[in-house]
Parts: sequence; structure tokens; C-alpha cells
Amino acid sequence: MKCPICGREVLPGGNFCDRHSAAYRSLLEGFKKWGKAMKIGWREYLKALVDNPNTGQWVKEVARHLAEEKA
Ligand SMILES: [Zn+2]
Repeated sequence: MKCPICGREVLPGGNFCDRHSAAYRSLLEGFKKWGKAMKIGWREYLKALVDNPNTGQWVKEVARHLAEEKA
């Protein structure tokens, strides 16, 4: 199985490659803290990440992927 974002090999049992899996985990962690504090929903959170120039490249790619997936 290949990472749906970059096409690299996916670790067994994972949805993304190692880099994007790590980004996905930090994205979820961020939503738990930040999403609650800001009172925003999942989709708004993803959009905010993509629009934020300070978001890391890997996290941004995951956020964009998730936003499209659930559209
Ligand atoms: Zn990847």
C-alpha cells in the first residue's frame, strides 16, 4: 500500500507513510487542544491549518488531503 499523499510506502497497519503519519498524529493532537479552545469544527480546523503560513509542509499536506477526502 502506498501513502495517498506522496506515494511512499505505508507502514503496516497505517494509512500514511511515516512522515505523514507523524504529521497526522500532531494534527489530531492539535485539534484536541486548539479546536476545543477555539470552538471550531474539524473542517474549519483543517482549513485554518492549510491557510496558516506557519503550518509545517507535512501537516499542511495531510490537512489538505483530509479536507478533500471528506468533502
Ligand atoms: Zn506520505
